[in-house]
Amino acid sequence: MAAYDIVIRNGQVADGTGKKLYAADVAVKGDRIAAIGSPGSLRGDNEIDANGKVVAPGFIDVHTHDDTALIDNPTMAMKASQGVTTVVCGNCGVSAAPYTRPDVGHWMSLIVKKRENICKDFTAFAAKVDAAKPAINGAFLIGHGTLRLTTMGDDLNRVASASEIKTMNELLDQSLSQGAIGMSSGLFYAVSSHASTDEVVDVAKPLGKWKGVYTAHMRDEGDHIIKSMDETFEIGRRVGAEIIVSHHKCSGRSNFGRMVETLPKFTEAMKKQQIAFDVYPYVAGSTILRSDMLERADKVLITWSDKIAGMSGRDLKDIAAEMGCSMKEAADRLQPAGAIYFMMDEKDVQAAMSHPGAMIGSDGIPFDAHPHPRLWGTFPRVLGHYSRDLKLFPLEDAVRRMTSYSAQRFHLAKRGEVKTGYYADLCVFDPATVIDTATFEKPIAPAQGIDTVICNGAIAWRDGKEGGGRAGRALNLQQMQEEAKVEA
Ligand SMILES: [Zn+2]
Repeated sequence: MAAYDIVIRNGQVADGTGKKLYAADVAVKGDRIAAIGSPGSLRGDNEIDANGKVVAPGFIDVHTHDDTALIDNPTMAMKASQGVTTVVCGNCGVSAAPYTRPDVGHWMSLIVKKRENICKDFTAFAAKVDAAKPAINGAFLIGHGTLRLTTMGDDLNRVASASEIKTMNELLDQSLSQGAIGMSSGLFYAVSSHASTDEVVDVAKPLGKWKGVYTAHMRDEGDHIIKSMDETFEIGRRVGAEIIVSHHKCSGRSNFGRMVETLPKFTEAMKKQQIAFDVYPYVAGSTILRSDMLERADKVLITWSDKIAGMSGRDLKDIAAEMGCSMKEAADRLQPAGAIYFMMDEKDVQAAMSHPGAMIGSDGIPFDAHPHPRLWGTFPRVLGHYSRDLKLFPLEDAVRRMTSYSAQRFHLAKRGEVKTGYYADLCVFDPATVIDTATFEKPIAPAQGIDTVICNGAIAWRDGKEGGGRAGRALNLQQMQEEAKVEA
């Protein structure tokens, strides 16, 4: 009788820590990695030949907006096909809980398609995710913008009052006690841009008590980025929380090259407090269509428009020419809408990705009609394009920035390493062929070279297709802290 449920045989293990590849069999029993043995030594009911392939921990996408995609699209093909086994949701200040208003509204519609997927508390939301049986795991941040909307109504163009801050603080405290892993803010966005530094600090105080993380889509990623970094670091210090700066970039042509300022600033600050950041491997970003962002982008592609049909995937310049008006006027006519902005420098992106504080996050937006290709391509692109082809960093280090380092920064206990006793979140890929195929023109396309993806011991993706495994779960801060203690 075979001792194990699954054995991945004869692969080269990239264990997630950055350690050099080594040949081994990896055995799975139940939801755990049960043994790692010399090549050919282990037997299982299901044996997967990984000769010539790399066996890595499942990738952790630390920057997503997949909160309700886990419920609506539980096979999570856009992520499982990349080797991703955990998505960190609720970034940029928007989360699906806690929210009590009857309407979805513009802000929440960025991550929510159905009102019933929005919940008044985190416990109810996590239960919805578990009930959907997603193929991969979710970990969830609470959005400061969502807290503001549910507490302040539509009166958002001001600092919150003392009693509103108290309410938001209590909602965050409750959510963390229920298993949310931290708080995100998006001070760049209209719902939160009038919040003061003090407001964010006072709302975020429970992070210190519960050891939750603070992620920040900063107030400014362009001309005033240094000031915004100072504000973010100050919030982390005053709250007593570890910081992750979201999608680090120097935005706009006039800011190209400024990584020579921001990266040393990260290095300095990292000596004094726990700071890290995530990066996506593209020179274009994507968010809502905003006329104040048009000037600093070299090119703007429309991803969706609620007002005018048939605009997805089109260049705003062509739309404006057709309408016989300025780009700003065209943008106004398309609202509400989403866009992709080409606004970064390739050298900056590479410098950011290879910094010691960098991990990989996609920032893909799951419900876009014409999404940014990062939604389907981020992780294979880092492995194939940046590590193998451009040799930006060795494969082992690329894997580390997608696995163990990410798990450490977000405190995802027993994940992110190929290690006996850890959860069986695994990705088997071909290092010679792995590559993204999603492009700005054709963004919905699974990557090549991802062989098998296992989440909690179940096969989520295999040979270019959904694997049928649906063992993902809503990860819970309290449970993970207990598990971390047992390990220590
Ligand atoms: Zn963001």
